[in-house]
Amino acid sequence: MPQPARNSGILLGRVLGIPIYLHASWFIIFALITLSLRTQFAAQHPHWTPPQNWTLGLITSVLFFTSVVFHELCHSMVARHYRIPVESITLFVFGGLARMERDPSSPRQEFNIAIAGPLSSLFLAGSFWLASRYLPGGEMVTSVAYLLFTINLILALFNLVPGFPLDGGRVLRGVAWGITGDFTRATQIASTAGKFFAYFMIITGVWQVLGGNPVGGVWWAFIGWFLLEAARESYAQVAIRSTLASVHAEDIMSRDIPTVPSGMTLEEYVQEVLRTGRRCHIVISAGTPVGLVTLHSARAVPREEWHSASVQSVMLPPDRIHSVSPADLALKVLERMQSEDINQMPVISQGQIVGMISRDTILRVLRTRLQAGHLAEP
Ligand SMILES: [Zn+2]
Repeated sequence: MPQPARNSGILLGRVLGIPIYLHASWFIIFALITLSLRTQFAAQHPHWTPPQNWTLGLITSVLFFTSVVFHELCHSMVARHYRIPVESITLFVFGGLARMERDPSSPRQEFNIAIAGPLSSLFLAGSFWLASRYLPGGEMVTSVAYLLFTINLILALFNLVPGFPLDGGRVLRGVAWGITGDFTRATQIASTAGKFFAYFMIITGVWQVLGGNPVGGVWWAFIGWFLLEAARESYAQVAIRSTLASVHAEDIMSRDIPTVPSGMTLEEYVQEVLRTGRRCHIVISAGTPVGLVTLHSARAVPREEWHSASVQSVMLPPDRIHSVSPADLALKVLERMQSEDINQMPVISQGQIVGMISRDTILRVLRTRLQAGHLAEP
């Protein structure tokens, strides 16, 4: 997965309440950009001293990434305007990433959130251009400002390329969504455009390597590869979402729930698990369910105590059970299981356990539906 993991990296601080993270891969690109800016300054201004070149390279690099954060903050502010919570902004090897908690709920929202980024970069490009012309401070200030004008202009234009996951691809998805009224179809169109652009970048990269520009060529191919992966992945996510869109916990839960008496010893319980292959049971005391026991909870007790300890002593009482309700969406259940690292959950309705739902079952339903070409249906 090319994108940095959720909230990974160093917390730089918070801007407008949004945490800003530096991913480990960011340090590489920061060093590379600082180095290449220093080299550029040295070539253009031979009379500057090495410390001057380094200092200006560093300042320009920091201002460049500040521009990237500004760009992501502009996406975030528009998203917040539509009440879409923004989890974090991460700087990584390919730039910035604002993580939103959900997709936009209308084509107009999608369009406006996406276009805010390139517009903010254009705004910065204009500001740096003005600074390079009118700001006093001599040659150094002018050079730094002019470089930042160029970089922000490139950033704006590159992001306007109409291929998902670039901003231009999101703009395209917004437009296609508006025309077709179908979010999945619009994502498919924008991802396909994104893949074309990604292949174009990879081929250009290879061309450049063959033409004698290995560093630039590899970089083009690398970004192309990243875009290709991201385009594939974003389409897969939407496909999964739409496949599971109408599936609820009660549709796929297993209604047959194995039970064990509360007085059963762990020794007997483990035998029961081995015999039946079921790893999770409801504990019954005096005819009523009192908790949940799993093979996992039995393992927490040392082996030599299994013959004396009862399932009741290790079971999870009702208030500590992670449960779902029958009307919960299977996709939400799957997300919870993944984030809490649980494989199965009881389905509870009005205080009664009415079924069990497992990660395997949800994944099996997903696989079957994808194979059956469920996506082709409207
Ligand atoms: Zn953007």
